[in-house]
Amino acid sequence: MTSLCVVGAGAAGAGAAYALRNTDVEATVLEKSRGVCGRAATRRRHGCRYDHGANYVKDPDERTTRLIRELGDDGLVDVEEPVWTFDRRGRITEGDDRDDHKFTWTEGLTQLAKRLFARTDADVRTATRVAALDREGDRWSVTDTDGDGHGPFDALLLTPPAPQTAALLTDTRWDDARLPRLREAVGSVPYRTIRSYLLHYPFEIDRPWYALVNVDREHDVGWLSREECKPSHVPDGESLLVVQMSPAWSTAHYDDPLDESVGTVAETVATLLDDPSFAEPDWYDDQGWRYALPDDGVSDVVHEAEDAGLFFAGDWVAGEGRVHAALWNGIEQGERVGEHLATSVF
Ligand SMILES: Cc1cc2nc3c(=O)[nH]c(=O)nc-3n(C[C@H](O)[C@H](O)[C@H](O)COP(=O)(O)OP(=O)(O)OC[C@H]3O[C@@H](n4cnc5c(N)ncnc54)[C@H](O)[C@@H]3O)c2cc1C
Repeated sequence: MTSLCVVGAGAAGAGAAYALRNTDVEATVLEKSRGVCGRAATRRRHGCRYDHGANYVKDPDERTTRLIRELGDDGLVDVEEPVWTFDRRGRITEGDDRDDHKFTWTEGLTQLAKRLFARTDADVRTATRVAALDREGDRWSVTDTDGDGHGPFDALLLTPPAPQTAALLTDTRWDDARLPRLREAVGSVPYRTIRSYLLHYPFEIDRPWYALVNVDREHDVGWLSREECKPSHVPDGESLLVVQMSPAWSTAHYDDPLDESVGTVAETVATLLDDPSFAEPDWYDDQGWRYALPDDGVSDVVHEAEDAGLFFAGDWVAGEGRVHAALWNGIEQGERVGEHLATSVF
C-alpha cells in the first residue's frame, strides 16, 4: 500500500479520492469544516434546505452527466426553469440559459462529495484544519491546528483555494528551491469575493424563471435564484431567494453586520423584482465567500514538485471557477498521483 493525504474535501478532493478508489493508494482526507463539499455547500434552517455557495453543477460535456448518474438517480434534481438576465438598470430579459443541465439533489449539492466519498475507502477526517506541512526524508507529514500529527504520507494533494494553499506553503518545512516558486505562483491567483444573502418569504413567488443573472456586471446584485425550484428544498407555500451580491458590493460590505446590511439587500431585490413585498423577508441568513471564484488559472509551476509527491488540485488549477471543473481536475490529479506512486514508491 502507498499513502496519500488530501487536504480539502471539496469537489476536487472528493474527485481525487474517487479516482483512486480501485487502487492500492490509501487516501486520508483532512477537511477543516464539519461537512464536505467546500464551496458547493448546503445548509438547513427553519425547515428549508439551501445551496448557499454554488447553485448547481453544470454539464458542459456528457461526461459530467454520466458520472452524476453513476452516483445514483435517487434524489437527483435537474432544475427545469430557465435562467434569465438583467442589466445595470434592472431590466429583466428572457434568455441566457446556457446550461443544458442544472444538477443538484433533494438533499442538496453536498451530495456530490458525499456520494463520491461513499464509493471509496478514504478516511475522511472533518473538523481538521491543516496548519503545517513537513518533508521528512521522502515522505510528507501534516500537523493540524490542534497540534495533532497525521502521516507520514507518500504524497500530498492540496486542494484549498489558492490563497489558503499559498498560506500552507508558507508553513511548509521543505528545503527545496521549488518551494518559494510554488508559493509565489499559487499566491498570485486573483479571486472574486461574493457575499450570499438568503431571503425567506411566507408566500409563493410566481415568476417564469429559476434565476436571474446580471450580464453587464454593473448591478449590485450579481445573481438571484429561487431555491423553491429545487424539490424538497423549501416547503410548499414559501419562497427562499438566494441573492449573490456583486464582487464590488461584496468586498465593500463583507464585514457589515447581517442585521444592518440585509435591509439594503432586500430593498435592492424589491426594486429589481418590482414588488415592495420583497423588502421584508420574514427570516434571512448569509454567507461570505472571500475566495469565491478564481479569476485566472495558475502557471505550470504547480506541476514542478510532483516528483517529490507534492500535487495541487481545484478550480484554480483547472482555471475555471466551476464545480465540474474542480471535480474533473481532482479526478485528473488523483490519477496523476496514482501513476506517480505506482512508479516511484517501492
Ligand atoms: C457564491 C458562489 C456561487 C457559485 N456558483 C456556482 C455554480 O452555480 N455552479 C458552479 O459550477 N460553480 C459555482 N461556484 C464555484 C464552485 O463552488 C467552485 O468552483 C467549486 O466548488 C470549487 O471546488 P474545490 O474543490 O476546488 O474547492 P473548495 O470547494 O473550496 O474545497 C476546498 C476545501 O478545502 C478546505 N480547506 C481549506 N483550507 C483548509 C485547511 N487548512 N485544512 C483543511 N481543509 C481546508 C475547505 O474547507 C474546502 O472544503 C460558486 C462559488 C461560490 C462561492
